[in-house]
Amino acid sequence: MGNYDLLIQNGRVLDADTDFDQISDLAISNGRIERIDPAINPALADDLIDATGQWVIPGMIDTHVHVSNAAGLGRIRGLGLQMVAASGATTVIDLGGSMDALRAGIVARGSGVNVGSLGYLKPGETVPEGRLSADSILEIVGEALDVGSLGIKLWGGYYPFTPEETSRFIAAANQLVGYVAYHVGTTETGSRLDGLREVPSLLGRTGKVHLAHINAYCRGSILPVEEEILEALQIVESLRQQVVSEVHLARPNFTLGKCDENGNVLADVVGNCLRLRNYDPTDNGIRAALRDGYASTVEETSTGLVLVSGERGVELFDAGNTDLPMSFPVNSAESAFQLTAAKDSEGEFIIDAVGSDAGALPRNVNIEQSMRLVIFGALEPLELVQKLSLNPAKMIGLESKGRLTEGLDADITIIDPDLGKASYGFVGGELIMIRGRVVGRGGTILTTPRGERAMEATGLPFETIDITKAMMYSGRG
Ligand SMILES: [Zn+2]
Repeated sequence: MGNYDLLIQNGRVLDADTDFDQISDLAISNGRIERIDPAINPALADDLIDATGQWVIPGMIDTHVHVSNAAGLGRIRGLGLQMVAASGATTVIDLGGSMDALRAGIVARGSGVNVGSLGYLKPGETVPEGRLSADSILEIVGEALDVGSLGIKLWGGYYPFTPEETSRFIAAANQLVGYVAYHVGTTETGSRLDGLREVPSLLGRTGKVHLAHINAYCRGSILPVEEEILEALQIVESLRQQVVSEVHLARPNFTLGKCDENGNVLADVVGNCLRLRNYDPTDNGIRAALRDGYASTVEETSTGLVLVSGERGVELFDAGNTDLPMSFPVNSAESAFQLTAAKDSEGEFIIDAVGSDAGALPRNVNIEQSMRLVIFGALEPLELVQKLSLNPAKMIGLESKGRLTEGLDADITIIDPDLGKASYGFVGGELIMIRGRVVGRGGTILTTPRGERAMEATGLPFETIDITKAMMYSGRG
């Protein structure tokens, strides 16, 4: 019997909160970081991990994933929970899910990661069709909190509300101290720069919101890409006291191909992608784009989802009656790079975090792509930790995560800098992933005090968090 449950030896320990960057040992006991010291006696530890040549960072927190199949992405329950753990994540926020699907996913294929969920708002499914009164909006947000969600996700690019309803949903979430994430777009705008331009008027002077994937609004639909990037940064910077935000670094986007009975695509995003390359925004436009390899859909294999185009893609599209995930290589590297690296006059990042918008989609590339930005010189190693761990923890209000400090949760990701990938993941001191192989099971649901009763009824582990500490409410401090 030693003093420590686990000793991670000789790694480059990186903590953005304290600007610590040193070769050191890190000892874990009872799920917490017990000691960080360059020379801890290995005889005091029950278990050893040699991290020589590797980076030891606070567990990667992905504030934008999709793991509960709410949008029909992936039929195997919990597949996304496996995929995020394989990529090095230790905590994720399911941006638009259902608690029932999430619970089923954790039971079926939980990977040990912590998961918070935002209830998604879809007319006819989670909210009534037709115009919504202020009272019913408040009730809908309250119900999301009661079932255990951290708050709500407004999916403007897919299920837009009027500007007034959108504004009221945000205000209701703020009033009830729920988390609220917004994929921009209302009935008056789209999932583009115009949707972002509308945000100040939706928030007024006091509204607070998490703006999802800023890069997705800088694809050159309205202005040249470089002008869209500059304007997007100006908008986000001007809302610094009211918004938190992330970008993702993947080339492919993901959206839904569903068409109406006349063959017109329903999702604004799909229409934009098709028009960008002069395809018709119809089922035939999608078929042509699949054949040309510009569009892809996904197919489930035993190891996860993979992208498929060509004739096989068309076959799947037809077999699925157009209602399938679609992907287009439309995310500009320029916008991902510039939005990630941009800083304000104080030297602070304008966009807070890197979030994958992946999960059950084959693009969980936060660590891989951020490591490329480090090699390229766009991010310093401690800035990578800020973008992947510290700021995401602050965004959610997780004071015991995102930092490597004695006494805090032993959620840790180890990165192999030569491979540019995560090599180990630990949650609460337990190994959940080793070199891409997921060994974790189950998972802890993050909830608010209002969700505790529902969580107790599930029998699954949960942790109650205080959303007043989330960055959108507490400030950047
Ligand atoms: Zn998303």
